Amino acid sequence: MRQADKHIYVHVPFCDGKCIYCGFFSELYDPLTVHRYSEALGREFDLLSDEGKYSPETLYFGGGTPSILSEEALEELLNTVLARVDTKNLREWTIEANPGTLSPVKLRLLKTAGVNRVSIGVQSFDDRVLKSIGRRHCSADVADAVIAVRGAGIKNIGIDLIACLPGVDDRLWSKTLEQALSLAPTHVSVYALTVENDTKLELLVNSGTVSLASDDHILRTIALTESTLQEHGFGRYEISNFCRSGYECLHNVSFWQGDDYLGFGPSASSRDGFARWTNRPQTGEYVSCLSEGVRPQHEAEVLSRESDSAERFMFSFRLAQGVDLAEFCRKHGVDNAQAEKWSRVLSSLARNGVVEADGQRWRLTSRGKELADYVAGELLVC
Ligand code: SF4
Repeated sequence: MRQADKHIYVHVPFCDGKCIYCGFFSELYDPLTVHRYSEALGREFDLLSDEGKYSPETLYFGGGTPSILSEEALEELLNTVLARVDTKNLREWTIEANPGTLSPVKLRLLKTAGVNRVSIGVQSFDDRVLKSIGRRHCSADVADAVIAVRGAGIKNIGIDLIACLPGVDDRLWSKTLEQALSLAPTHVSVYALTVENDTKLELLVNSGTVSLASDDHILRTIALTESTLQEHGFGRYEISNFCRSGYECLHNVSFWQGDDYLGFGPSASSRDGFARWTNRPQTGEYVSCLSEGVRPQHEAEVLSRESDSAERFMFSFRLAQGVDLAEFCRKHGVDNAQAEKWSRVLSSLARNGVVEADGQRWRLTSRGKELADYVAGELLVC
């Protein structure tokens, strides 16, 4: 079995609208397109299969909004995947869901299929803020969603929030964290708002209609988030992710640790050895390619050993556990010259207080966590 078969991502590119900040590929939900998408997805699994059924350790349905599918469409999608995936080695199966889109029937289908983790796109608990960023749910839908997921027997529930949204001050952010914690999730993700190209948010910022948070505000928000969540037993296991002990998202951890993975569906990316590829983003083109028996690749490249290991090394630093340099070099075939270069750069970063060493294991300091992109850049160019 290929290493990449162990971690499978399925992109479900449908939403019931467009959030103003969203840079992901998604299109409006349409039942006929979803049916064609599911058929094409099955073909893509078949084209990439090297020996019968896949037997992944983690499976992740992301989007888009996978939970927007009708009950019939969700059942078709699950059957398409389960016909090609053996779940005997599966440790984690996550689905992303938005509040207001989960019915008891959908949850029963998910639970029966083997889904054991739901990541809920909450973003904010303030109805005024939710409306201003183009979300289609309201705060009350969040509690309903958490109760329904738990009631269906899925106990591993993540809440995803966006920090530093326009109009959210320290007091409102504090309340947001309290409201999230009151729902007793196992996992909380907090990403600060960023402006992606070609989004409505970009237009609003460029026209001066919306102002972004200052650097000070962002740092204060991150500090408040970390201290509040830690007080409630959540560890910051990755720069933007917090969880109760034992509830790390295994799929995402495998990515940050540098494991290979396969991505299926429009715009999904894959990493298999030195190869990287990304699928065509438009569902129509994705479906057309697969109906002709052609892989729907949009971009593909084969990295050199140096670029491959540098990319994996850089991502590993996002994890609180850091990276054991000697072990990493052994695992990824990094030569002594490159290992020494990284060692020199890390020593220099340590003098600046952004990384620290514990034997051979290097990790970001508190200050380094806020400068992770800078650290990644330094490691990438050396
Ligand atoms: S729900 Fe998610 S994928 Fe859909 S538009 Fe909003 S941010 Fe983008």
